[in-house]
Amino acid sequence: MPKVVFSEDRCKGCELCVAVCPRKIIFMASRMNARGFRPATVTEMDKCTGCTLCARVCPDTVIEVYREAPAKKEG
Ligand code: SF4
Ligand code: SF4
Repeated sequence: MPKVVFSEDRCKGCELCVAVCPRKIIFMASRMNARGFRPATVTEMDKCTGCTLCARVCPDTVIEVYREAPAKKEG
């Protein structure tokens, strides 16, 4: 399963990643980060496709997307 990691304290709350995510799984947390913004976060990580659109759109390089190694072919 892909994993999305946010360097939360760098987020400026611009919501570009929220808009771009095709799975609509990114939203703004209710807590504040060190810069005083509500940071972006992912809840349903199992729905992430690892498309990396969020990481590419973020102007502050807050987001890193990790994809797992390709699964072994079964049978
Ligand atoms: S990698 Fe793609 S699917 Fe996953 S959170 Fe980012 S934009 Fe959404
Ligand atoms: S695009 Fe980057 S700076 Fe903007 S809300 Fe998303 S993580 Fe934060």
